[in-house]
Order: sequence, then structure tokens, then C-alpha cells
Amino acid sequence: MAETLTTTDRFPLKDADMCVQCGLCLPHCPTYRKTGDENESPRGRIALMRAMIRNELPLTPRLESHLDRCLTCRNCEAACPAQVPYGRLVDGARAVVSANRHATWGRRILWRWAVDGLLMRPDRLGRLGRLLRGYQQSGLQSIVRGSGLLRWLGLAAVEAQLPVIPKLKHYAAVYPAKQEARGEVALFLGCIARTLDQPTIHAAIRILNKLGYSVHVPPGQNCCGAIHQHAGDVPGARRLIVQNLQAFTPTGDMPVITLASGCGAMLLEYGQHVPTREATDFGLRVDDFGAFIEDHHAALFEDSATFGDGVAVHEPCSLRNVMRSAKKTHRLLCRISDTKVDTLSNHANCCGAAGIYFLTQPAMSEQLRDDTVQAIQDSGCRTVVTSNIGCALHLAAGITSRHLDVEVVHPAILIDRVLRLEG
Ligand code: SF4
Ligand code: SF4
Repeated sequence: MAETLTTTDRFPLKDADMCVQCGLCLPHCPTYRKTGDENESPRGRIALMRAMIRNELPLTPRLESHLDRCLTCRNCEAACPAQVPYGRLVDGARAVVSANRHATWGRRILWRWAVDGLLMRPDRLGRLGRLLRGYQQSGLQSIVRGSGLLRWLGLAAVEAQLPVIPKLKHYAAVYPAKQEARGEVALFLGCIARTLDQPTIHAAIRILNKLGYSVHVPPGQNCCGAIHQHAGDVPGARRLIVQNLQAFTPTGDMPVITLASGCGAMLLEYGQHVPTREATDFGLRVDDFGAFIEDHHAALFEDSATFGDGVAVHEPCSLRNVMRSAKKTHRLLCRISDTKVDTLSNHANCCGAAGIYFLTQPAMSEQLRDDTVQAIQDSGCRTVVTSNIGCALHLAAGITSRHLDVEVVHPAILIDRVLRLEG
């Protein structure tokens, strides 16, 4: 007989009961569209979760795999007329699975070293960034890539996503406004992005300074906790949330600007994960960089300049379905450019990056990326703009593998170029 599951109180059964099984979410689900399998659909997964929590179905590897293949893209949530909070359900189910599953050694090592030992340690990420820069600059990268060693070590997919790492700079605590002062903002750096995406972070700081904002970079901030939360590691996510709340306390009620919508979506919902007034208030301060500029300062860019032909906007799921700001980036870029800015034909689909999904579910991830890269190729664009570093790295690797001459950048990079702010 199957063992009774523990910690089922982590699953919001009442929310699952809101599902009326209408199936309207099915055509919006990337994994259902690919497989046609009800178990790979939001409705099917909700039924599986509910049965698991009620001990009507045992927790088997097969059931787990249906949950694991969910991208947490939340397309279903945005499409659901009954407003079923699917993100909360799948996070809750994964927390139960994680507490009841006997983790393999491989999984434990990956979690202990790569996630806890690296993502939660900005100092180590900085050292790793410098090592990787040396690896790229010395020419070792092309030798290693050609040797087949990466494939043998199982690191080819993650290494293929490495961007060119510039000389790393330390962050100041405050970057003062360059114009007449309009206000102050706090900047969230993220874990991977603080090392691998420094050009975007510094471009955003220059733009905000130019607009009259002093930019505060709280030194004690850490990873947002999304990877932990979506993998069911609730204690790990809470530790990070508490640390970030403390780090941002000195910034009062300043807007918290994010440059990666995956992080922004998590920060926005801190109040759901740590039910305190402080966490809820913090979530209300969070804004995406492009949305913040479009909402408050778009007029400043009227007739600014042009960034030429062939720009297409990619909509990260976290920006579209959770931050609900995807259209604002497009509007902002249309305002700045005197040429047409496209939206990709499959803009409502997930590109398959989804946190560490590209590592844990490589086959499905690659299929979804292929669709987006095909849409990029069909659009004929030369530049793809996306507001999430995970999507950017994943798409850039797919573009490189097809030998396309297309650059993937954050909107801050494009705007920085238009304004010619880099000195
Ligand atoms: S999740 Fe929403 S859209 Fe999907 S089947 Fe349930 S009620 Fe219908
Ligand atoms: S979150 Fe995305 S992949 Fe998961 S069930 Fe919903 S639509 Fe499908």
C-alpha cells in the first residue's frame, strides 16, 4: 500500500477545487500543445495533484514527471475564466513532492553545490564569473568546445548558454542622478545576472540616472528565491525572501526595479510566500524596468532617435502572465524607434528556458526553443529584445546553433545605445 504523504498542508486544496474542468486553458499550455496528453495539461495536472494530496493516487515517478514537465509559465492561469491560481498549486504540489520523495544523489549534489552553494553566494558567483572570463579570453573555450569534453561531462547545454563576459565591475551602493532629481529607486540585481549580465545592469543605471533617478543597490541582496520556490524547496525560498526584505528595508518605499522578469515575478509575490505585511508591501513596490519607464517617463523619449530596422520583442512568460507588463516594453520601444518594432509570431508561447527547466527537461525545452527561434528567423529581425536573462541566454544559444546573425539584448541595452550614454 502507498505511504500516506506528509506536509500536504503545503498544498492549497481549496484553490484546486476552483477548477471547473472547462478545458479553456488547454490550448494555451505549451506541453499539452506538444504532446496532446491530458496529463501534460493544466486541467490534467490539477486533477493529478488533487488525487495525490487526497491519497487517491500514489506518488509515483510517472506522476512526478507530469508535474516536473510543467514549465510554470502560467499561460493557463492567465487564460482561466475561473481564476484558478495555478502557479500556487504547482508550487504547493512540488513542495509536497519534495518533502516526500527520496532524492537521488545526483539531485542532492546538484542542489547542494549548484543551487545552494552558488546561486545563494554572490561572492562565489563573482569569482566564478572571473574564472569564466579567463576561460573565454584565453582561448580555452574553443579548445574545450571542440574536444567533446563538455558533452562527456553533461555540461554542453549549460556552457552553450554562456554569454561573452566583460571585465566585471563592483557595484556601488548608490549611483546619483545626473539630471535634475526626480526621485530614487532601488535596483534588484539577481543572482546569475549580477555576474553574467553586467552590461544590462549598468545600461539601466545610466538610463535611470539620466532620467533623474538616483539608483540604490542594496549590498545585502541575494537570489530572488524563484528557483527554490518552483522546485518545492520552501525553506530555501523563505531564507532568501527574508534576506532580501532585510536588505531592501533601508530603501524605504522606493520603487524596486527589476531587469529580469523571472525575478520580478517572484519578488512581486513575496507576500504569498511569507505572509507578512512587510512582504506584501515589498511586492507592491516591484516594477519591471521597461514598464517603469513607459509608465512614468515615456514622453521623454518622443522622437529620440532610431535603432534601425529589424527589432522584434520577445515576451517572457513571467512578464506577460505574472508582472502583466509585456505590452509596455513593446509600446516603449515603438515610441523610441522611427521604424517598426515587431512582436514575434509565437509571442504567447514559452521559449523553454523556464528557470532550470532547460537543464532538467532538455528535450521539451529544445522543442519549445526551436519554435521561438523559427519565429525569430521568420520575422527577419536582426535584434531580439527580451526582459528576462534566462530567456535571453536560452534563445541566444538556439540562435547560435542555427548560425543566425541575430543579437539578443535587454531593452535597457537598446535604449542606452539610442541615447549614447556609455562614456
Ligand atoms: S484551470 Fe481554469 S481554464 Fe483550466 S480547466 Fe480548470 S477552470 Fe478551466
Ligand atoms: S504553467 Fe504552463 S506548462 Fe504548466 S500547466 Fe500551465 S500552461 Fe501548462
